[in-house]
Formats: sequence, structure tokens, C-alpha cells
Amino acid sequence: MDLNKDVKYVKGVGPNRVKLLNKLKIYTLKDLITYYPRNYEDRSKPKKIIECINGENSLIEVVACSNIEEIHLRGKTMYKLIVRDDTATATAIWFNQSYLKTKFKYGKKYKLYGKITNNFGNITINSPIFEEQDKNDNTGKIIPIYPLTYQLTQNVLRKIIENGLKEINIQIEETLPQEITKKYNLMPLKDAIIQIHFPKDLKQYQLARRRLVFEELFVTQYALKKLKTENQTKAQGIKFLKEINLDDIIKKLPFSLTNAQKKVIKEIEKDMESNRAMNRLLQGDVGSGKTIVAIISAYKAIKSGYQVAVMVPTSILAVQHLESFKSILEQFNIRSELLVSAMTKKKKKEILEELKQGKIDVLIGTHALLEENVEFSKLGFVVTDEQHRFGVKQRMTIVQKGNNPDVLVMSATPIPRTLAIILYGDLDISIIDELPPNRKKIETYAVRKSLEPRINIFIKKQIDEGRQCYIVCPLVEENEEIDLKSVTKLYETYKNEIFSQYNVEYIHGKMKAKEKDEIMNRFKEKEIDILISTTVIEVGVNVPNANIMVIEDAQRFGLAQLHQLRGRVGRGEYQSYCILKYEGKSEILKKRMEIMCQTNDGFLISEKDLELRGPGDFFGTEQHGLPNFKIANLFQDIEILKQVQECLSENKFENLSISEIFEQSFFGKIEYQRF
Ligand code: ADP
Ligand code: MG
Repeated sequence: MDLNKDVKYVKGVGPNRVKLLNKLKIYTLKDLITYYPRNYEDRSKPKKIIECINGENSLIEVVACSNIEEIHLRGKTMYKLIVRDDTATATAIWFNQSYLKTKFKYGKKYKLYGKITNNFGNITINSPIFEEQDKNDNTGKIIPIYPLTYQLTQNVLRKIIENGLKEINIQIEETLPQEITKKYNLMPLKDAIIQIHFPKDLKQYQLARRRLVFEELFVTQYALKKLKTENQTKAQGIKFLKEINLDDIIKKLPFSLTNAQKKVIKEIEKDMESNRAMNRLLQGDVGSGKTIVAIISAYKAIKSGYQVAVMVPTSILAVQHLESFKSILEQFNIRSELLVSAMTKKKKKEILEELKQGKIDVLIGTHALLEENVEFSKLGFVVTDEQHRFGVKQRMTIVQKGNNPDVLVMSATPIPRTLAIILYGDLDISIIDELPPNRKKIETYAVRKSLEPRINIFIKKQIDEGRQCYIVCPLVEENEEIDLKSVTKLYETYKNEIFSQYNVEYIHGKMKAKEKDEIMNRFKEKEIDILISTTVIEVGVNVPNANIMVIEDAQRFGLAQLHQLRGRVGRGEYQSYCILKYEGKSEILKKRMEIMCQTNDGFLISEKDLELRGPGDFFGTEQHGLPNFKIANLFQDIEILKQVQECLSENKFENLSISEIFEQSFFGKIEYQRF
């Protein structure tokens, strides 16, 4: 069976299940069999009842020595079965599952898997999974646990994946050359795919995972390496004019640059004056002053006779950047304009016309810049802000609107340098490692819900002194409707009950750009005291008078994202505060909260964040700004990454295009040559 065939052809997949699978982004057979488990349960080794440890999940082999007893409790029905083996007796209990009544026969043998509790010798197994002694569907092996949405159960998905694997069983061909699989001791791909879903034992699982991680990292590293070579060998880039003296603009700024800013501007200037096209990543913590670096570089490009494009992820940010660019560049007769999808057709047309005629020097906008009808007369410099939201492909699209323009990619997700070199292998890196002077540390407190009343009093006091406050709700699910509800619900409570004497508003990503702008403007103008929001305000918003950031359900966010959000305050002269409301008791959670309270250093936080992410942590990379790997975990797999890089530097692989690399890998052959 063809791997790219629709998943609906897999046995056990009807129209209903297709929809559910699609929700998990499983469309093809290949998607299905590369939908990896997030965890495993070892149901392979039965234990004697007496050996079971209180609180642990265990498999027991027992005889039913009662019939199912139905007990009505308040609001629920309990089903009870007495079982025993040759060491002890235990009680199995389930709730509200009436079909169980006919499932057990007195005197028959069963396997049960579930959580054991031992209460002074009264042993209970809670809502166990069960199976007749001679069956091996749900017990007797290591069972994969998949990340799921509701409605699709583990058992169903497991069965579907099993069926899918049967169908392609013979057809998974090795992708990596034998020399490499041998040298790095890699399990054959076919075995790896099967073992990752249904590992025979721990060892097999580890080998399978290693093989798949190797391939995934190999492919991404190969693609990046290729991009970099392409950039370097491309036709000549633009040589911006040496005569344009950046001091002319720098001396007009309302502040003096930090040493770190001066350093990165030098690096950029050098690139701009050389005839090689610049591809540079500018990393700096929130508030480190990246925008001004972009403005100064843009000045050089424009004064050398070129146009500049600035691409940002949200229209709020576009509007804000427009203001920043204008406030500095207008005095040099440089014209900056906005392009976002929400603009009227007429206005858009005007802008596009003037852009084509070269009457606009800087065009700032969202994805709208990528559209085909956006034509520059002489695009020489491209800035993309908050780069992790744009893929490499989008970057290429905008770049192609110019003739080998210089590119500056700005990222506000600080990641350790070692990692940056790996992930942004196609870019040179500049780092702003210093904040402008006189920034006060944002006081951060992690608190439980019970402290809410005190926090609310604190907020009121700050507002009475003239400040403003953000309240951020997490994305509850990948479901916009539900997210929306959580924002509006919170809004109702805050507006009508807790903060009824203040101006409370809300904003979320689904609103029209115009509405969002309007609300942000009113917030800026201090017409709104409290702004309730989803993470749309995460990137770049600048309202210096706001000094409190409350984050609801902070446990749901990655550290890097919390840090980003926190960066919305602490932008003015006032002492600022970040309040992380959280629930949950795990040690890791506590540690995560502690880190946030202890430090404001984004690079440090990002290192810790990676460290604390365990293997089963699916919460994450998207929130972190790192590429979203299917199976690799950059912190855990750094050793494999090193081997991949070694492998790539020693061998030359056949010249595949980037898209070919992604398509062919996994189930197509990657050809290579030795140097
Ligand atoms: P980010 O790096 O997060 O994009 P911004 O560029 O938005 O940060 O800068 C944050 C704030 O700091 C802005 O209000 C900006 O004007 C100000 N700023 C930037 N550089 C300096 C500096 N050298 N001295 C004082 N303030 C600065
Ligand atoms: Mg910024």
C-alpha cells in the first residue's frame, strides 16, 4: 500500500474516525505510522497480588471468585468483582460501566491491569483494563499511549495503527546508507517504526527511538546546511554605501545605544557593506532594543537607494513598529507605510501602486506582504521580526521580491548559543546580551488560586495610582471556540464582579484586525485599565504605563512563553510585577515557577526550560519557538545531534532540493557520496 494513501483506506477507519484522525493531523498512512506514542505502559509482566506496590499500576493474573455486583451510590453505580491468585484476594472496582455486568464469569481466569491500592491489607484494583487469560490484545505487552483528543480512545487508535503497520509492513525501505546505519549502530528503519509503536522491551524501544531521532535530526540539519551553502554561492548581494554614516541617525535618538546594540550594529553594517547577501539572526531578550537596530540598519539601506520590508506576525505589532519607524525616520524624509490584510481595498491599492513606483521606503506588515501582488521597485533589505512564527519558506518568499536583499531575522526567543547555531544553521548570529540601563527587575510571584483576593486588592491599588494591568488566559485547547469562551468568561467575572468600578476590556486573536487595533489604542490612551487577553499580546506590544501582568493557569505555558508575556511589562519608569497563578503540585512545576521568580534573564530561562522538559513532554516546542520535532528532543538528544553533524561533515549527500529532502526522507532513499 502506498504510504501517501488516504488514511481512510486503513482497516478500521470509517468516515467518522477519519475526521477524528484528521484532527490529529493524520491524513495519510505515513502520518498514521509516524504518529508516535507519547508514553508507554508496561503491561507485559504480571505480578502476584501480594507483590503489588500501593499506588502503582500493575498487571495481575486472577480468577474471578464472585459475580459482578452492582452497587448504587449517590449519583453513580459501582461495579465490584472479587478476584484472587495464589497469594491474595483483591477487589476490582469500576464506575458507571453497566456493560461490565455480562463480561465476567465466576471461576474464569482473567488478566487485570490497573492502579493497585492497599489499604491495611484491603487490596483494590481501580477501573482495571481486563482481558481473558488467553487473550493478548490489551495486556501481556508494552502498550503505547498516544497523545489524543477526546472521542478517540487509546484502544481504537492503537488498533488502527496496528492495522496500518500490517499493511505497509513489507514496504518500508531503508533510507540511510548501510555504511551509516552500521557506523552509528542504527536499527533498520522498518524495525524502528514497528518497535516505536509496539516495543518488545525497553532496549528495543531505545534503539528504535534513537534510529528515528537520528533520521529526523539528519533531515533538518541537512536542509539547513544546504540552505547555507545556497546562500553563500548565490549571485552577488547588494553593497550598501560606505558613505552613509550611521552616526547621523544614532545622534538623533532619544537615548544612547547600549554597548551590545553598538556591537551588533557594527556586525550588520559590515555585512551590508560587503557584496555578500546578509543572512543574520538577531537574538536578544525581550526589551533589549532590537527594533532600533532594525531601524538604524533600514536607514542605511534606504539612504543607499533601496526599499525595506519589515514582516511581523500580528497586525498589532505592525502598527506599533510603524510608529517606531516613523518617529525616527520621518525627520530624514523617509516614508514608512503599513500593509495588513484588514485594510480597505482602495487603500491597499494605493499603497501597492506607490510601492511599485518606489515612493514608499519602508513597508511594514504581516503575512500580507507575501502576497503576489506586492511588488517593490527596489527591495534591498528585509527584516522579519519574531522569526519563530515564520517558516523558512515564508522568509524565502519575501526575499524573492528583491534581488538578493540582505536579511535580518529578529528573534525574541533567546536560546542558548550552541542550540542557535544548530537550529539556525543557515544564518549568522548576532546577540544583544545587555538591557538598556535603569531597567527595574520585574518582580515575579507564583501564587495559588487561594491568594486571588489579595492579588486583586493589589491590582486595584496599582490602578488607583494610575497604572494598567494585563491579564492573560492560556490556550485551553487547540480549539479556538473553547479558548474564546475562557477569555469571555473571565472577562464577565472581572468586569461585573471583581473589577466593576474599572474599565475592563478583552482582546483575542479571532477579532478583526481593526477591532484589535482599536482596543490596543484605547489601552495605550489609558481608556482601559485592565486588558484581558489570549496570547495575542505575547509579541512585541509596548505600553509603558502597564505595570502588572497576571497570567492565569501559568502551569499551561512554557517558560519561554511566560518570559515573553512578562516582557510586556517593565517597559516604563514604574516598578512592574508579574503574577503567575498556577495549579498543580508536581516538583517540576514548582521548579519552573521558581526559575521564573528568580531570574529575568531570558537566555538562562531558556536553558532551564530545555533542561526541565522531560522526554514525554509534548507541551512544547511550539511554545518555545523551537522547531516542532516529531520525536527528537533537543535537550535529551544532543549526543545524537552531534553524531548527525559529524556524519554530515564527513559525507557528501546527493544534491537533493530542500523539499525533496523532506519528502524523500523517511521512506525514500537518501543518496550520498564519500568525500
Ligand atoms: P525588543 O528587543 O523586545 O523588540 P524594543 O526594541 O521594543 O525591544 O525596545 C524596548 C524599549 O526600549 C523601547 O521602548 C525602546 O525605545 C527602548 N530602548 C531601546 N534601546 C534603548 C537604549 N539603548 N536605551 C534606552 N531605551 C532603549
Ligand atoms: Mg520587538
